[in-house]
Amino acid sequence: MVSNEAGGEAPKQATTLLALSPAEVAQRFVELGLKPFHARIARKEALERGITDYARMTALPLAARERLAAELPILSSVEVERHKAWDGTTKLLLSFPGGARPATVETVYIPPRELASGKGATLCVSSQVGCPVACPFCASGRAGLVRNLEAHEIVEQYVRGREVGALARSVVMGIGEPLLNYANVSAALAVVHDEMGLGSRKVTVSTVGFPERLRRIAPDKPRFQLAISLHTPDQEQRDELVPAMKGVPIEEVLAAGDDWFEQTGREVTYEYVLLAGCNDSFGHAERLAQRLARRRCTVNLIPFNPVDDSGFGRPTELGVARFHQTLVERGLVATVRWSRGVENDAACGQLRIRRQEPAQ
Ligand code: SAH
Repeated sequence: MVSNEAGGEAPKQATTLLALSPAEVAQRFVELGLKPFHARIARKEALERGITDYARMTALPLAARERLAAELPILSSVEVERHKAWDGTTKLLLSFPGGARPATVETVYIPPRELASGKGATLCVSSQVGCPVACPFCASGRAGLVRNLEAHEIVEQYVRGREVGALARSVVMGIGEPLLNYANVSAALAVVHDEMGLGSRKVTVSTVGFPERLRRIAPDKPRFQLAISLHTPDQEQRDELVPAMKGVPIEEVLAAGDDWFEQTGREVTYEYVLLAGCNDSFGHAERLAQRLARRRCTVNLIPFNPVDDSGFGRPTELGVARFHQTLVERGLVATVRWSRGVENDAACGQLRIRRQEPAQ
């Protein structure tokens, strides 16, 4: 069981526009001979419009732009790779400075299904570099946890996503376990809420659902939707599929979800990765329906995205449809999330490990 805030501090680096508080940015700008309102403009341009180059911030004095670029970079990360799928899904592999092991994470920009709809995209962000939870079907925890992401490094993923295009929603479902880096996740989401305009209903945080942590934060009514990765109705199997939760009774996780609903007034979504021949039988669907009966919640079924050597398989469309139907017939609200941009490395964390483990 992972009981502590895992991972160390990110090492101190030369600072950036996004790493400073608005007051600190104003002070730096004044030191560079600019006015405090210029600082506000720069922060707004970066956060609201995803402008990551002072040269394009035309509201700033021309002479100051070059100086700012040299003195106070906007971003700290390097874009290592960018993969754009046929449907516009864009996966960014970002590397943050500091530490002995490379701090690379993935951020995925997922456009609306109907591009012409004009609706914005969903951005999937990472909360940690690596992950200590080590679910055997997931690529993110393969090499354990490297370190926590700082709040500004999480915000930076949003700015890079905004640079790709408009954002309508966001899910903290990339690499990492957000409740094990909660202080930084919540500080970042405050910026995303207040300065990037993504409201509470537009942001979802996905967790394996540590009950005591959920109970601690629920009274603050955090401004996001909660998703809990359940993956199976059977205790023994959950202990294997979500190793960090070994020994935590499923009923306790569900009770913490009930309390969350009561305290925040927002329904919980239970996520369920469908693994062929493992947790996708008719019996699993029936037992899941029993567990969740009379609870106001949604089940989100996620057909497994293959991860090399994981030993797990992707269910067929028919298998997924049957599982879904069994839940619906038993009165549950259930949805299926087919991943986008599936051609290569769709599973989150895949791109990162492939980069770190060069082909033999
Ligand atoms: N640690 C958090 C958030 C990150 S993962 C959590 O576990 O909820 C977001 C979701 O994607 C989780 O439900 C996770 O189990 C699921 N997931 C991980 N690897 C996957 C894969 N290869 N295919 C499909 N879903 C996967």
